[in-house]
Amino acid sequence: MREKTDVLISGGGVAGLTAAAAFGAAGFSVICTDPAPPVTEEDDAGADMRTTAFLQPARKVLEDAGLWSRLAPNAAALKVMRIVDAGGEVPEARIVKDFDAAEIGEEPFGWNFPNWLLRRELVARIDELANIDFRPGIATRSLLARETEARVTLSDGATVAARLIVAADGRASPVREAVGIGVKTMRYGQKALAFAVTHPIPHENVSTEIHRTGGPFTLVPLPDRDGQPCSAVVWMERGPEAERLAALPVPDFEAEMLARSAGLFGPLKLVTRRSVWPMIAQIAERFEAERTALIAEAAHVVPPIGAQGLNMSLADLGCLLELAKAAPDRLGDRAMLTAYHRRRWPEVKARVMGIDLLNRTSMLSARPLRDLRAGALNALYSLGPVRKTLMKAGLGMR
Ligand SMILES: Cc1cc2nc3c(=O)[nH]c(=O)nc-3n(C[C@H](O)[C@H](O)[C@H](O)COP(=O)(O)OP(=O)(O)OC[C@H]3O[C@@H](n4cnc5c(N)ncnc54)[C@H](O)[C@@H]3O)c2cc1C
Repeated sequence: MREKTDVLISGGGVAGLTAAAAFGAAGFSVICTDPAPPVTEEDDAGADMRTTAFLQPARKVLEDAGLWSRLAPNAAALKVMRIVDAGGEVPEARIVKDFDAAEIGEEPFGWNFPNWLLRRELVARIDELANIDFRPGIATRSLLARETEARVTLSDGATVAARLIVAADGRASPVREAVGIGVKTMRYGQKALAFAVTHPIPHENVSTEIHRTGGPFTLVPLPDRDGQPCSAVVWMERGPEAERLAALPVPDFEAEMLARSAGLFGPLKLVTRRSVWPMIAQIAERFEAERTALIAEAAHVVPPIGAQGLNMSLADLGCLLELAKAAPDRLGDRAMLTAYHRRRWPEVKARVMGIDLLNRTSMLSARPLRDLRAGALNALYSLGPVRKTLMKAGLGMR
């Protein structure tokens, strides 16, 4: 027998689970599938050691989905984004520029959370809503989209008719493949290490991005751990160097971290395992097909600079929901999905290109180019209106 649902979400990563909670809270019936059950404890095998800095606009989506009240007690606020250039002869901070959220409003830029904790709270919220059917361990297998509905076959043999398919099944999205949407991919030969550290010098809610070569070394505030100030780190390097660092014994790794962080926080102590993520930038040629919307990494992937990845995904979700709530009878029809594509694709394309440029600039190894980069940072920062525009653009404000 074929089941019916308003929305089928393929993928239960952070984006897919958030989409499930958001559509469920808005009153739509939802089925969400994922072959990999979510890992919701930090010490469990396969736990996602990344953190997500949700920027201001994401908060509304999380509030509407009934998630914010669950997350807020675990939030570390980001009040200042500090950019440090350490691209001189020795790895020392030679230029330090603070972008302060107080210059553009009363709120912090955003709030940082570990991804495993996000999954824990997302699953708990989904359990509260009777109209969401989350199916961990089950994959979306095949898809046949018609003008009136999409028919999906799941890995357990079940078939589902849905008015809207939301593809949140990651950068190699099987749904995107099934509907025949191509991607443009940019490769950097670069990898990111993600882990957490404690440090003697407090972060004071400042997120610090240190540039030298190979990519940025970024510390993002987390709540204190074992009575010590704590930060999440994303350390981007060319692939072989990232692999070498990931394999170092802990004392040697900590020594390398101290040097690469220009000693700004004192000695950094590794408190989690290190995970390694290959870096690409990617954008799908379209964000819609018959009865299907692509969101999150199924639609776009960027290197983790300026906390844009999942925030763009929540903006995708916010846009889809707004269209769905405005005309619930027309959920998933061509007009709704065309409007979604037109609103999101140009905005995402501009961000992907901007982050691509920032990442290439951050990777520079030739000294004269590093000096040019430092000069550009100085020049951009010293113009007040430009500085404020950059901050607002980073948040996705107009
Ligand atoms: C090191 C690092 C740090 C980052 N930091 C930030 C940050 O601070 N702020 C920010 O906004 N973003 C950040 N990002 C980006 C952010 O982590 C990603 O955008 C986000 O995790 C991707 O989520 P997703 O749900 O789209 O994809 P995924 O997490 O890849 O989820 C896709 C899911 O789809 C499932 N799936 C696969 N095949 C199927 C199928 N056939 N059927 C059903 N399900 C399927 C998979 O099992 C998986 O669970 C960072 C990224 C990296 C690499």
